Amino acid sequence: MPTYDYDLFVIGGGSGGVRSGRVAASMGKRVGIAEEYRYGGTCVIRGCVPKKLFVYASQFHEQFEDSAGFGWTVGETSFDWAKLIAAKDKEIDRLEGLYRKGLENAKADIFDSRAELVDAHTVRLTRTGQTFTAEHIVIATGGTPNPHADLPGHELCISSNEAFHLEKLPKSILIAGGGYIAVEFANIFHGLGVETTLIYRGKEILSRFDGDLRRGLHNAMTAKGIRILCQDIITQVSRDGDTLSVETKESGMLSFDTVMLALGRDPHTKGLGLEAAGVKTDARGAIVVDEYSRTSVPHIFALGDVTDRVQLTPVAIHEAMCFIETVYKDNPTRPDHDLIATAVFSQPEIGTVGLSEEAAAAKYAEIEVYRAEFRPMKATLSGRQEKMLMKLIVNAADRKVIGAHILGHDAGEMAQLLGITLKAGCTKADFDHTMAVHPTAAEELVTMYNPSYRIVNGERV
Ligand code: NDP
Repeated sequence: MPTYDYDLFVIGGGSGGVRSGRVAASMGKRVGIAEEYRYGGTCVIRGCVPKKLFVYASQFHEQFEDSAGFGWTVGETSFDWAKLIAAKDKEIDRLEGLYRKGLENAKADIFDSRAELVDAHTVRLTRTGQTFTAEHIVIATGGTPNPHADLPGHELCISSNEAFHLEKLPKSILIAGGGYIAVEFANIFHGLGVETTLIYRGKEILSRFDGDLRRGLHNAMTAKGIRILCQDIITQVSRDGDTLSVETKESGMLSFDTVMLALGRDPHTKGLGLEAAGVKTDARGAIVVDEYSRTSVPHIFALGDVTDRVQLTPVAIHEAMCFIETVYKDNPTRPDHDLIATAVFSQPEIGTVGLSEEAAAAKYAEIEVYRAEFRPMKATLSGRQEKMLMKLIVNAADRKVIGAHILGHDAGEMAQLLGITLKAGCTKADFDHTMAVHPTAAEELVTMYNPSYRIVNGERV
C-alpha cells in the first residue's frame, strides 16, 4: 500500500469542502484543506448570508411606512450604505472565523492558498509550491459569475461579487438576468432607494418556477416601482462620463450608474489540473460525477456547484455528508436531489417545493390545483396593497401533494416545513386532517378544501 501525506485533501473551503474536510478530520482522518480566497465560500462570504443581511436592510423603509397604520410615528429616516457594509463585513469575518475554528478543532491542516492537481494523487499549493499526496481528494471549488464575455463592455459591469463591496450606493442600476440573483438584488437595491431596472431575455422572470408565482412577483415588483424589461437583452455597454450607456435590443439606449450581470454561474474548474489527474469535465466545464459524486477517477470526488447539479448550499452540504458515508463509513449513499425546497428572497418572497403547475400538468394525466390569493392581515391596517398567494398541486390519481408554492411574507420559512410534508409523501387528505394555526397566513395551506380547478390531459377544467 502506498503511503500518502493525507487521507483526504480538499480543494475549496466552501460549504461542501469544509463540511467534508471537517467531518473526515473529526473521524480521525488526516485531512488537508486549501482555499484560495476565504473560508466559508460563496454562501458565507459573498452569497446567501450577506445577501440575506442586505434583504433585511432593504425591508425597513416599507416597515417604517407600514407602522403608521398601527399608530406609530417614525421620525425622519436615512440610510447609510457604508455603515451597512461595515456591519455586514464584521459579521462575515465572524462567520469565517467559525468555519476555520471548526476545521482547527477537528485537527485538519488549513492552507490559505489555491491548490491545483498535479496528478491523480498529488496537489500543489500555488502560494508556496508545496506538494502533498492524498489517498482521496475532494474538489469543491464552487462556481463563479458568468462574465458574459461576448458582450461588448462586459468589463464595465459588476457581478454579485462586487455588489457586496460597492463603495457607494448607485443612484440607478440595471440588472441583467431573470434568475435568483437578478430578482433578489433588484428588490434589495430598490428597497435601499436605488432606481432599479431589470432586463431579462425570456417572457417572464424566474423561468423554472410556477407561472402564478412568476406573474405575481413580477406584478408586485412593478407596483413597487421596479422597472422590468422582458424579452430584451443588452447588446452593448459603454462608458459615458460618470454613467454607463446601455444599448438594448428592444428598449433602445438607456443610461445607468451601474450595470450588474446576473446571468448564471459557471463551474470554477479552469486551471485546476483536472486533465493531469484524468478528471473529466462536460461542455460547461463542470466536473462529471456519478450518482455518488465520484469523478472519472475513482478516488477523486467532486461536490457542490463545481458539478453543476443543483447550485444550492444545503445540497453541497448534503453531498458532502453522502461522501463521508460512502468513503469513510462503508455505507454507499447517493445524494437525494428530489423535492428540494427553496426560497427566492425577493420582496415578496417565494417559497416553493416540488412541481410547478405547468410541470405537474405535463407529467400527470390529472392534477388538482388548490389556489388561494388573499390580503395578509398585516396589510389591512398598514394599507399596503399586497396579496399573498398559496398553491398546492395534487396528483389526482393518488392524491399526493406534489407541489407547494407560496408568494408572500415568510414564504421561505414555510417552504422548509412544506418540504418535510412533501418528502414524507403526504396526501391532500393529510393536509385536510391537520388543524389550522390561527391566525396565520400558513393556515390557508390546510383550509383549501376544494380544488380551484383541475387540469386533465393538459386541459384546464
Ligand atoms: P439562475 O440560473 O437562477 O439565473 C440565470 C439567469 O440568467 C436566467 O434568467 C437566465 O435566463 C439568464 N441568462 C443566462 N444566460 C444568459 C444570456 N447569455 N443572456 C441573457 N440571459 C441569460 O442563476 P443566478 O446567476 O441568478 O444564480 C446562480 C445560482 O445560484 C442559482 O441557480 C441558484 O441555484 C443559486 N442561488 C440561490 C439563491 C437562493 O437559494 N435564494 C440565491 C442566489 C443564487 P433563462 O431563465 O432564460 O435561462
